Amino acid sequence: MVVKDLIENGRWREPKIRELFPHHLVDDILAIPIALSQSEDHRFWLFDPRGKYTVRDGYKVATGFYEPPESSSTSRMEGWWKFLWALSIPPKVRIFCCRAILDIIPTEQNLLAHHVPTSGMCPLCHYSCDSSCHALFMCPLIKACWLGTSFWPTFKKVGHLSTIDIFLWMKENLSKIDFERFVVRAWATWNERLSLIHKKKDLAGGTNSDWSEIFLNDFQMARKSLYSPAGKNQCHSPEIWMGPPEDKLKLDVDDAYNEGSNSFAIGGVVRNHEGQPVMAFGSKIDKPQSVTYAELLAIEGGLHISHERNLQIYHITSDSLLAVQAVTSLKENFSYVGSKAKDIRILLDPHSISHLSHVRRSANEVAHSLAPFASSSSSHFVWEVGDFPLWLIHLVTKDIFTS
Ligand SMILES: [Zn+2]
Repeated sequence: MVVKDLIENGRWREPKIRELFPHHLVDDILAIPIALSQSEDHRFWLFDPRGKYTVRDGYKVATGFYEPPESSSTSRMEGWWKFLWALSIPPKVRIFCCRAILDIIPTEQNLLAHHVPTSGMCPLCHYSCDSSCHALFMCPLIKACWLGTSFWPTFKKVGHLSTIDIFLWMKENLSKIDFERFVVRAWATWNERLSLIHKKKDLAGGTNSDWSEIFLNDFQMARKSLYSPAGKNQCHSPEIWMGPPEDKLKLDVDDAYNEGSNSFAIGGVVRNHEGQPVMAFGSKIDKPQSVTYAELLAIEGGLHISHERNLQIYHITSDSLLAVQAVTSLKENFSYVGSKAKDIRILLDPHSISHLSHVRRSANEVAHSLAPFASSSSSHFVWEVGDFPLWLIHLVTKDIFTS
């Protein structure tokens, strides 16, 4: 059978296609426009109106920042990227997953395509071309690693498809929790494979399944304890930026002192669960009574500006432990710090689960750069979507990529 057998009078034969293909592929096939005239097949890049591929667009697609034009197949991909970004998985696994789906992981075939001198054959079985699908799922040695897992019954029904088809198939057929386990397992398999190729160890069989589960559990426990009211003060302060839960907003703040101009400033950024900025602000302040007081002014300022813009803040972070303790402490404190902490407690909506927690400076890079920027700016600023300067986007992207 050839493609033209699926076309009748210039239209797709939908019942036939539904009979032959898995349901998750049918909509994609039906969305392919049929040429009215007879023409040669050709490659195209659907993420640009002119079909022109650029590394910039490829990068945006890979990182989920690309905003595709409306069409059923692109909006389906958009849904897929959104789904991927909402998963509770470590950032490095998410990035690996993007790369695998876009087929830009360094398999022998991809290396060959980039003129690296290699045979393009699988370095493990020496039997097949080393495509991403072969490397992750189909190589006989790798397949053995999937055999004993709970994914195998679903996985073996997939057949010989591409990597993206396998990921989409698993997404359709697994629960969200199991899909998270699946992608971490795929990432672990890739690392296992690298170790095998570089002869760091022998084939570990099922053991990578165990450590990939432990790795995911640790990540999810850390994330959970960050957002559990009982656990937030007990967990170690995070060293990397972590997003709020889905559909929630997070405010990160900081303060700064500019020695040159002898000025003080506060700054902060509000981000969504995908790590994308929604609002950023910066403002000079009068000389504060203490560094802790300046940090409390940053929290207060960030909350005020967010409230004015109807941004409901779910989680607030600061790299000043004393400021966080001042607000979260139940003890009466009659100092100026205690009085400002009280003002902030009033601002925190008691009906929503607002959290305030301490993070290391490394997890607060964006706010940490906004405050000095404000101290050297002539006036205060509030940026919203569309206003953010490149350096801010760069820092935000770094947070998303940090693992
Ligand atoms: Zn192989």
